[in-house]
Amino acid sequence: MREITHFIDGAAVAGISGRFGDIFNPNTGEVQARVALATASELDAAVAAAVRAQVDWAATNPQRRARVMFEFKRLIEANMDDLAQMLSAEHGKVIADSKGDIQRGLEVIEFACGIPHVLKGEYTEGAGPGIDVYSMRQPLGVAAGITPFNFPAMIPMWMFGIAIAVGNSFILKPSEKDPTVPVRLAELMMEAGAPAGVLNVVHGDKVAVDAILDHPDIRAVSFVGSSDIAQYIYARGTAAGKRVQAMGGAKNHGVVLPDADLDQVVKDLSGAAFGSAGERCMALPVVVPVGRATADELRERMVAEIATLQVGISTDPAAHYGPVVSAAHRQKISDYIQMGVSEGAELVVDGRGFSLQGYEKGFFIGPTLFDHVTPTMQTYQEEIFGPVLQIVRAATFEEALALPSAHQYGNGVAIFTRDGRAAREFAARVNVGMVGINVPIPVPVAYHSFGGWKRSAFGDTNQHGLEGVKFYTKVKTITARWPEGAHEDSAFVIPTMQ
Ligand code: NAD
Repeated sequence: MREITHFIDGAAVAGISGRFGDIFNPNTGEVQARVALATASELDAAVAAAVRAQVDWAATNPQRRARVMFEFKRLIEANMDDLAQMLSAEHGKVIADSKGDIQRGLEVIEFACGIPHVLKGEYTEGAGPGIDVYSMRQPLGVAAGITPFNFPAMIPMWMFGIAIAVGNSFILKPSEKDPTVPVRLAELMMEAGAPAGVLNVVHGDKVAVDAILDHPDIRAVSFVGSSDIAQYIYARGTAAGKRVQAMGGAKNHGVVLPDADLDQVVKDLSGAAFGSAGERCMALPVVVPVGRATADELRERMVAEIATLQVGISTDPAAHYGPVVSAAHRQKISDYIQMGVSEGAELVVDGRGFSLQGYEKGFFIGPTLFDHVTPTMQTYQEEIFGPVLQIVRAATFEEALALPSAHQYGNGVAIFTRDGRAAREFAARVNVGMVGINVPIPVPVAYHSFGGWKRSAFGDTNQHGLEGVKFYTKVKTITARWPEGAHEDSAFVIPTMQ
């Protein structure tokens, strides 16, 4: 059976723990490979390589580092089809969606190509007599990233793209469910000219994660995954003196005002709720129509739209979405659907019985629609992370605004309306980190930054853009004096710029 190895110091390294994770083919349900799960000592070896590489890499001028990023971008583009195939084969998302996953990561690499401009620093001439002050951003040393299964290309690139461009070396601990693409990215980074040890991939589970959190030579940890784990990572990493950003789960709402273009809304909701089988932290699994007439009309059109959706294997170009990532995850989604029924929500379309001919053992689940979901229901409060759309009816704008604002998660939210004033007020007042106005999946472009609020993110800095640069650098400020003429007297009071 194919074995997915670590990638340390520029080379494939077989695991020595004797522990492995199964890699499934979600289309067929079969085990297609196994991945080595690291011990703390294997992580130590990767950190040692990263420490060795970092000093020279940080001393490499920013333009040369940017050239590596340019070449990495070219190589990803040249390998796009292969990467997308690999990604779909382990994750289950359709090929076009895998290309989107890679492309969104690539856009962060494009931002990183401009890193010399971003790292120019600040300068004040003549802050006092003969005194100039300047500040610069220096890399932290070794940084680490721990990533989820649902974006195995984009999220690693959010992290290492910026971390490496600013002069750090990096340890990536990707999801053990779909680890092949992250390793391929590291190989391409070496091919692009990054020295060995600058980007290392260590596979693993909690053992490897805890070793990262406790390792004294790792200065910063970026995490993306579910909220309970994010909170744990944040607490343990910061207790060990590290800088930590930890993005968590989500339950994004789409508010539909009565004046919205419902034809467009239905198309947008369908893609955002069911695309990638709902396994996106910026999916839109809750729709909040305002007013009964809007709700009734939307429900009717949504049912008709769902009837047109095609669920298929990840390589089927006609499929709108493919299987979910594992049998366990499919079971969890089915359990949530049953819970919704028990809680008293109305199950309008039930996707649980879905089976694909010839792929009966694949991890498929059909699109599911609930109506009359209420805020006290557990299925509303928790993240389902599957192709399940819940209608929560609101009587007024204020009621609709209050729902995402009060929810434990605050990743993304969208409002659909033709009323600019209402949209503006909604965006200003909603207690959520990323807002879409007639945009169902408001993932910010790479030169802005990504981050939710409340239990969707622990820590103070967002991913990528200038926030990413801040996260992976520390500021040093230099005050320089070149006095002329006679010596000045000793000063026993704090110097001021009077
Ligand atoms: P997950 O939390 O199960 O795993 C994420 C990472 O944590 C993996 O690398 C995994 O190996 C590691 N991990 C798992 N259990 C651990 C433990 N007990 N101790 C230490 N490490 C552990 O998440 P997932 O299922 O891979 O991904 C889906 C989740 O990620 C969803 O909740 C989704 O909303 C969230 N997500 C959030 C964002 C965001 O930016 N907010 C983006 C993508 C995904």
